[in-house]
Amino acid sequence: MSWEFETDAEFQAKLDWIETFVREEVEPLDVLHPRDVYKRPMDPDVAKVVRSLQQRVRDQDLWACHLGPDLGGQGYGQLKLALMNEILGRSHWAALVFGTQAPDTGNAEVLAHYGTAEQKERYLRPLLDGEIVSCYSMTEPQGGSDPGQFTCGAVRDGDDWVINGWKFFSSHARWAEFLVVMVRTDPEASVHNAFSMFLVPSATPGVRIERNIGLYGETEDEGGHSLVHYDNVRVPAENLLGEPGQGFAVAQTRLGGGRVHHAMRAVGVCQRALDMMCERVLSRTTRGSLLADKQYVQGYVADSWAELAQFRLLVLRTAWKIDRYNDYSRVREDIAAVKILAPRLIQDIVGRAIQVHGALGITTELDLVRMFLIQFVTGFSDGPSEIHKATLSRRVLKQYKPAPGLWPTQHIPTRRAEAAAHFAERLKEVDG
Ligand SMILES: Cc1cc2nc3c(=O)[nH]c(=O)nc-3n(C[C@H](O)[C@H](O)[C@H](O)COP(=O)(O)OP(=O)(O)OC[C@H]3O[C@@H](n4cnc5c(N)ncnc54)[C@H](O)[C@@H]3O)c2cc1C
Repeated sequence: MSWEFETDAEFQAKLDWIETFVREEVEPLDVLHPRDVYKRPMDPDVAKVVRSLQQRVRDQDLWACHLGPDLGGQGYGQLKLALMNEILGRSHWAALVFGTQAPDTGNAEVLAHYGTAEQKERYLRPLLDGEIVSCYSMTEPQGGSDPGQFTCGAVRDGDDWVINGWKFFSSHARWAEFLVVMVRTDPEASVHNAFSMFLVPSATPGVRIERNIGLYGETEDEGGHSLVHYDNVRVPAENLLGEPGQGFAVAQTRLGGGRVHHAMRAVGVCQRALDMMCERVLSRTTRGSLLADKQYVQGYVADSWAELAQFRLLVLRTAWKIDRYNDYSRVREDIAAVKILAPRLIQDIVGRAIQVHGALGITTELDLVRMFLIQFVTGFSDGPSEIHKATLSRRVLKQYKPAPGLWPTQHIPTRRAEAAAHFAERLKEVDG
């Protein structure tokens, strides 16, 4: 019997180091350079600070911990990563400083699995070293949740493939050295066999960024999510990652852990909001008493604490199961559940934090509105909640059968009759 809720002392010491380092060294970058995380080339002064912070992370053996030792990581597994990510989730710069930023993490795994030796040298090594950033280009303007609607296609032409079409919300495309692009290569095949994945260097002629879409609050056309036109983009056959028609399988390489990592970071976002909420309600007085003394507000604090504790345990158990089974197909219900809960939790807890701050809560003098928007980022990325709810429901229902007759199996009159018959038989046996 083992049912432990403790972190061993050695790893706890690392978590303590991360906590202090993020608070004292990384969070200050968040306020000084909130928009520059992926910007390339980086401002030389910012780059100097970031490089020195990254070196301190390396010195602690905490660099790119999602990767196995073959790729320069620690191979810590998901549970340790969950405990780390909930600290990193507090800050926008932390992922880059610790070498765990999306979509580079997933793209690195794809290149490690499917890239040629030359591609690994040219793109994977600098990506892992944090020298370049990359882009994952899959969603299209006419629909992201339904790949059946994707039309961006590639045709074989001699030793090359020629890509034509549009992609939407290709994050960091404007700064990326290369793009990993999911493209239809077989118009006749079923959705799961119709797509292939390509490595497209950004400098390839025909890669045109039409607009750099900003999230709400960012300057129009100065954002980090691009509408990209692939206009007769020619790449050599070795830039096909995996086999033709294997695009979905390749995509799974990068999505496997991604959904859980979002949930781990959501714990950090919510903890930070709860910390802000608690500080505020202990500081603000209205109508003769602290906000903390008002019953409604006590409800905000108590509900937030309980919901966060509940969610965190589910995330940690999901991470533990991934490590234990090493088989994502056995953890699909859990992953879907944390994916569904993360945006709801951010909405509730960050929303309450905004509420107790009053007008100040929705200004640019606090980070709460940006944090509130993360619920949608977490909600849309890797598929909207509705789809995950449908998946979870389908998988849960697979474990059940319809009632054998007209009445539910728990129908009391039916059960009473069965129970009476059962005991009548037993009484006969005892009497006999
Ligand atoms: C910050 C951010 C970064 C992103 N980065 C990338 C990136 O780097 N690369 C990339 O390729 N994409 C990226 N995306 C896009 C993301 O993958 C898509 O937003 C997502 O797949 C949803 O697609 P959509 O936005 O077209 O919404 P739609 O597919 O149009 O869905 C809209 C809404 O319809 C409902 N809905 C959809 N399907 C169903 C269903 N089956 N049943 C019931 N309701 C449904 C849901 O409410 C859903 O939110 C990013 C998105 C965000 C917000």
